[in-house]
Amino acid sequence: MLQDQITQYTQEINAFSTENAEELEQFRIRFLGTKGIIKDIFDEFKAVSPEEKRTLGKVLNEFKQLAEAKYLSLKANEPVTGDQKTAGMDLTLPGNGIELGARHPLALVRREIVDIFNKLGFIVAEGPEIEDDWHNFSALNFPEEHPARDMQDTFFIRKGGESGDIALRTHTSSVQVRMMEAGKPPFRALMPGRVYRNEAISARAHCFFHQVEGLYVDENVSFADLKQTLFYFVQELYGEGTKVRFRPSYFPFTEPSAEMDISCTICKGAGCQLCKYSGWVEILGCGMVDPNVLENCGIDSKKYSGFAFGMGIERIANLKFEIRDLRLFSENDARFLKQFKTSLI
Ligand SMILES: [Zn+2]
Repeated sequence: MLQDQITQYTQEINAFSTENAEELEQFRIRFLGTKGIIKDIFDEFKAVSPEEKRTLGKVLNEFKQLAEAKYLSLKANEPVTGDQKTAGMDLTLPGNGIELGARHPLALVRREIVDIFNKLGFIVAEGPEIEDDWHNFSALNFPEEHPARDMQDTFFIRKGGESGDIALRTHTSSVQVRMMEAGKPPFRALMPGRVYRNEAISARAHCFFHQVEGLYVDENVSFADLKQTLFYFVQELYGEGTKVRFRPSYFPFTEPSAEMDISCTICKGAGCQLCKYSGWVEILGCGMVDPNVLENCGIDSKKYSGFAFGMGIERIANLKFEIRDLRLFSENDARFLKQFKTSLI
């Protein structure tokens, strides 16, 4: 009798086929489960006579192996389903690699500038991007209603419907004011940060950009110190042999003021499109801190003097990487950004 049952179930198992995970699970429960057919048959087997056991035992074991083999072979071929994600996968294969990120070109240039001035003992100072009129203009010698304020188109922030004196800072010079107000000379610091101007966005202008300013205030600081410091900076950043020249200029917060040019990094002075065939490229503005600014910040201008300089990080990066469109810096286009992957991380 038991032999008949085994024969019948053997036929059923041989005929069984499915690609459905649920049907396969039902198969497993029906034959191989803890209350399944094989368990029942083994229970019945215990009751048969010793003579029968000898012949049936082998048949029964083969039957059990057949059911297990059928189940495993169907399971190996079954399509991947929700809770069976690893079925049929080779778990020994290596996973997908994680692509290494890259630093933003502006962050790279900022760090390079900071590193150079760190060697000269300059520390980094930071301040708020939303400023009041005093720190952004008045303390820096921009008189009320003076046309100098028109030099920078400012984003003013309205307070209670009225245009107050709160604005997005137009330069990081506001951090110089805060630093001088809060401490005592000597000061030797760099102020890197984001600044805002109300400009139409184009390849050559943006409504925000990044500056690094520097300030050095102590007794007997002269224009010669300014020139030597910036000369050292340029040799470090663009390589030895880069020439510099100073042109007289005007800023409300420095007197005398100058703009500094370097020999063109592309044509080395011979003349090219970048330098408009002049051989020179302007990279920063600088000058001796106006005594009025020192006094505004509570510093005795008879005892102390200082120099300040400021540059746009985008401009330095443009010259370094030959980037022609300012908008690329803020568009987060991976095709642009990943080109800087070779730089140190
Ligand atoms: Zn050139």
